[in-house]
Amino acid sequence: MQIPGELAIFGRTYDVRNVDSIHACDGILGMAAYRDGVIYLDLSMAPSLVLSTLWHEAFHIAQQDILGTVDEVEARWVSLFIHTFLLQNPAILKCYHAASNPVSFNDEEPEKAPQK
Ligand SMILES: [Zn+2]
Repeated sequence: MQIPGELAIFGRTYDVRNVDSIHACDGILGMAAYRDGVIYLDLSMAPSLVLSTLWHEAFHIAQQDILGTVDEVEARWVSLFIHTFLLQNPAILKCYHAASNPVSFNDEEPEKAPQK
């Protein structure tokens, strides 16, 4: 599994980096460094745990953007909900992929330029 090296959250790009070994030894699964624009993840974890941790840290970024603070309890349940929802409903991911490309979303041929 290849986690992207950059992720956009509300239009700002965040680098995705592996947690350093000191933090990994402390049991840190991930960290959101809002000011630095970095999301740290322990990429040595099982893929499902990396993904759920990514949702958690990305949600912290969103909380900082919207609320100016973080709420750990909210981040836990929201990230767990999104993670399990996507795992249990993988077909919805195809819809999101299609929605990011409106042409394929409607299964239509792109409009051709008028002939001159
Ligand atoms: Zn947290």
